[in-house]
Amino acid sequence: MASSSTLAFTPIEEIDRIHARLHAGFKTGTLKSLGKRQDQLLQLAYMLKENQSAFEEALAKDLGRPKLETNFLEVAPLINEAVKTIKDVPKWAAPEKPPFNINFFAMKPVIRKEAKGVVLIIAPFNYPYFLTIGPLIGAIAAGNACVVKPSELTPTCSQLMADLFPKYLDPDLYAVVNGAIPETTRLLELKWDHILYTGNSRVAKIVAKAAAERLTPVSLELGGKSPVFVDPNCDLKMTARRLLWGKVANAGQTCVAPDYVLVPREFQDTLVKALEDTYKDFYPEGPAKSDSFSRIVSGNHFNRIKKLLDGTQGQVVLGGDTNEGDRYIAPTVVKNVPTSDSLMSDEIFGPLLPIVPVKDLDEAIAFVNSGDHPLALYVFSNDAKTKKKVFDSTQSGAACANELIIHIGAEGLPFGGIGPSGTGYHTGKFTFDMFTHLRASIDSPGWIDMILNFRFPPYTAKKERALARMFPTKLPRRDAYSSAKSQC
Ligand code: NAD
Repeated sequence: MASSSTLAFTPIEEIDRIHARLHAGFKTGTLKSLGKRQDQLLQLAYMLKENQSAFEEALAKDLGRPKLETNFLEVAPLINEAVKTIKDVPKWAAPEKPPFNINFFAMKPVIRKEAKGVVLIIAPFNYPYFLTIGPLIGAIAAGNACVVKPSELTPTCSQLMADLFPKYLDPDLYAVVNGAIPETTRLLELKWDHILYTGNSRVAKIVAKAAAERLTPVSLELGGKSPVFVDPNCDLKMTARRLLWGKVANAGQTCVAPDYVLVPREFQDTLVKALEDTYKDFYPEGPAKSDSFSRIVSGNHFNRIKKLLDGTQGQVVLGGDTNEGDRYIAPTVVKNVPTSDSLMSDEIFGPLLPIVPVKDLDEAIAFVNSGDHPLALYVFSNDAKTKKKVFDSTQSGAACANELIIHIGAEGLPFGGIGPSGTGYHTGKFTFDMFTHLRASIDSPGWIDMILNFRFPPYTAKKERALARMFPTKLPRRDAYSSAKSQC
């Protein structure tokens, strides 16, 4: 069961000292060396590998998280990402030449990939390693110094990172600040070169306002209600297994967990029966006794989720039991949930799965489009047209057919929201890009003025003709593309 542990909050004056130390560390220029970045990434990988059991035990303590889930969803992907980044960073960091242009090539135009400076990563409780160390990998690769602020709701994990960082990473470049609102508020009063905030939209507004005061670039990785369309023409057993897994992994405390299901009314009971069978497969002794199911992070979150369940007008068909002392909420499926229900009022972020019956796919799409753009949107179907229709008629951070959650780990895919579910992208090279300044650079020879002489006053008719030769403004016919309008 989850139990609390002590977390040493970073004294406020110490936060200022860390800020100054990291700025001084960054200014030494040591991170301009790719070797230094690769070394720090390797140390980070060793930190994860040599302390794997400690990472697992800390999450078991804070969230009752099964070890396999910690490994599958956090530690193993992070080790892989660090090692892969070590290999990829020389390619990512290499200066890039823009496409050839006769007017400019002689000026040797180049995009230099430069670190932004000292960056701040503020993370939530639900994936305490993936959402701190993951972005840190990209920050290091891009040559930034970095402060990581983990969540106070996972005290054992946050303390573990504070203890381990100085043993593996250069303390003049990387530091953990621990604490709650006052500590984060102090961090936000200081100047950073980029802030990545992952968490809820209420705090995101506080972070964005503080960043705006200092014109600090900010990326926001938020949440929301991620819907699932289930088509009667689907692989039912696979759908039920993946759907229920998406809801029970980390007890539903996953930003891209399936939040609710939209299903044609006549297919609802078939889906419920398949979920019942899966439930028995997953938890033959029941989830309360299983060591394959996490607990809710805090009493506040337990009460919040229980209130949503207590308020439902739907029918609980699976689970429904809770135990406050253990912060246990059973994986729970609720059917016949109206769209006005308590379970549909906000992101659930817990192991409750409401099923909302609809007339058809059009009604489901219209409902999703009437709300905020979700972080992820899922469809289970064997029909290519249905999948295409869902993808083409909606907007969301990610769109997945017949799969849930693990798109985040798919190499080369960006992870990010749209609108209220977030701005910016991370994982892999996208994190590197987020923390990189693309510095435009040219080195222009003197003889260019023979060609660009027209820029210098006095402006004459001859110079105007030279300008017209260099930048012709002839357009295609006005209707050149009009027949293409209907082809999209
Ligand atoms: P949380 O309560 O752990 O808070 C996140 C961070 O904000 C913590 O570090 C906390 O100290 C700080 N914080 C809290 N209140 C603050 C305040 N008033 N001022 C400044 N800082 C403050 O986690 P949470 O926000 O409840 O996280 C859950 C949310 O995060 C969900 O909505 C989930 O969908 C979202 N999430 C998004 C992603 C993503 O990548 N898009 C990933 C995980 C979670």
